[in-house]
Amino acid sequence: DPEMSSGIAENIALAHDLKDALRLRPEELTLFYQPLFELRSGRLLGAEALMRWTHPIHGMIAPGVFIPVAESRGMMTMIGNWVLTEACRQIRSWQKDGLHFSGRLSINIAAQQIEDAFFPDLINEIIRAEGLEPRLFELELTESGMMKNIEQSIDMFTQLNAAGFSLAIDDFGTGYSSLAYLKRLPARKLKIDKSFVQDMVEDINDHTIVATIIAMGKTLGMRTIAEGVETRAQADALLALGCDEVQGYHFGRPEPAPVFAEKWLHAVGR
Ligand code: C2E
Ligand code: CA
Ligand code: CA
Repeated sequence: DPEMSSGIAENIALAHDLKDALRLRPEELTLFYQPLFELRSGRLLGAEALMRWTHPIHGMIAPGVFIPVAESRGMMTMIGNWVLTEACRQIRSWQKDGLHFSGRLSINIAAQQIEDAFFPDLINEIIRAEGLEPRLFELELTESGMMKNIEQSIDMFTQLNAAGFSLAIDDFGTGYSSLAYLKRLPARKLKIDKSFVQDMVEDINDHTIVATIIAMGKTLGMRTIAEGVETRAQADALLALGCDEVQGYHFGRPEPAPVFAEKWLHAVGR
């Protein structure tokens, strides 16, 4: 199928450009920051770092496009290292400017990254080199990524937890994990996939799924966060169900670091 093969050729070209950007043109890459809140109080709990790539010809390419390409080309460790290094640099830069970033910065981790047994050492090194501590970070791994190798994921989570990182299971509800596994995972948080949140007010099935995940979180002693909260009605429904945290356009969009800082970070001692 010629259409299919041209898709493959495009992906190869994209992967090549991304590799070049990582090595030679890091100015094409940046992180956006989206705030996370405690639902009951509205208190800022931290932010999620989300990658953005401005391609010299194609313009802004969404991570939903380039991350799968990078995954299929085995580039996620390279990307993950860039993301963490850049996140550390940003936190240090806010600190130097006297801006107080309280709470944690959530970083997305790809399944490929935890296949490397040295992953905990590697990220510890990156963070310590910047004079920062693991407790400043929450690592998000998708439920489906976790299920690719559940025993390895449990082992990795255990090591990362012991090193002081906070851990969250992303896109929860889409990955078919069982309670037997969840019980053994030292995760602090379940992140309810936005596909369930989006229709929970209109669709009774999605409402039931969200309610069940929140109840499950309580049983397991894990916090729950809903992502993709776009309306007041969704926030109210989540509050009624006892959801702990929220993230979404209704509360704040992902934005470049200076915009995020202007809106959400306050100066200390000045
Ligand atoms: P994710 O980790 O599930 O990130 C949440 C996505 O939901 C983000 O899309 C965010 O912009 C979007 N979002 C936030 N609030 C709302 C809302 O209220 N409504 C809707 N419709 N969407 C909302 P984004 O930034 O396009 O990222 C897409 C995915 O790409 C992420 O999904 C994550 O899987 C991946 N990704 C992004 N940055 C990184 C990264 O640094 N490392 C890795 N491994 N993956 C990344
Ligand atoms: Ca995420
Ligand atoms: Ca997610």
